[in-house]
Amino acid sequence: MTAGSIFSHPVGRFAPSPTGPLHFGSLVAAVGSYCIARRSGGLWRVRIEDLDQPRVVPGAAEEILDVLERLGFEWDGEVLYQSRRTGRYEEVLSDLERKGLVFACGCSRKEILASAPHPGEEGPVYPGTCRQGLSPGRPPRALRLRVPKGAVAFCDGVFGPVEQCLATRVGDFVLRRADGLFAYQLAVVVDDADSGVNQVVRGEDLLGSTPRQIYLHSCLDLPVPHYIHLPLALDSLGEKISKRHGDYGPLDPSVLWHALCFLGQKVPAELKGAPGAEVLAWGGMHFELCAVPARSERVERIP
Ligand code: GLU
Repeated sequence: MTAGSIFSHPVGRFAPSPTGPLHFGSLVAAVGSYCIARRSGGLWRVRIEDLDQPRVVPGAAEEILDVLERLGFEWDGEVLYQSRRTGRYEEVLSDLERKGLVFACGCSRKEILASAPHPGEEGPVYPGTCRQGLSPGRPPRALRLRVPKGAVAFCDGVFGPVEQCLATRVGDFVLRRADGLFAYQLAVVVDDADSGVNQVVRGEDLLGSTPRQIYLHSCLDLPVPHYIHLPLALDSLGEKISKRHGDYGPLDPSVLWHALCFLGQKVPAELKGAPGAEVLAWGGMHFELCAVPARSERVERIP
């Protein structure tokens, strides 16, 4: 299975989770996805990934959209909210169930950890306990997708060829969690396909999820997008800058200039104090994908 063809009408997107305010790390993904889409004459969409309601911070989605707008980003079409799309995810899950690709799993996290053959991509590899059916009296918890034995391969726009064997690195993965919520892996594939997204630009932390998403696209007979993963901005401890780090703001327009520099772009120094829309317009005309470093880096305090 391969992905990575060139599309004549690119459609990119930015998909923040509203678990806190926008930070420098997520802004790098916003700037990168925006400039790459615009540079190739494409559309750029925004989606709010608010499926995991327990983690959603009230007001964060509005704040993120407000900051994007104030920084000069212009998105195409309506903002998509995952929390309003559960009916669609149900439909897709039923389709996968009809194809015999889904099974109910009764294992707790603790049980999986205890019986996993080895550590995987993100925590333990699912050992296949409930693959042939639940043992009598065991209540179903999560719904999982059966994964094949072979490898999934694709060519990332920054990191190059990537190959992953889902069976040995992840195992049958969750589509619907024990708490009833749809998993990110399912939602992201359905949303990207339904919005015509064919250019997925995001942080390198999701590189390891991509083979699962490519496999899901193929199970659903959906076209596979072109994937471009960007280096992560790391803090002084070498950790991904996340919403926990509130000290990389406030987001004044110079942050866009910093984000472009972080992505290896030769953005003119005089644009540092320019309005956001001007910096983004420069990026939309001059962004060079081949200049993006394939390595995550520590950043000094921004701005
Ligand atoms: N919602 C994810 C995040 O905020 C991004 C998911 C994606 O781009 O596929 O990290």
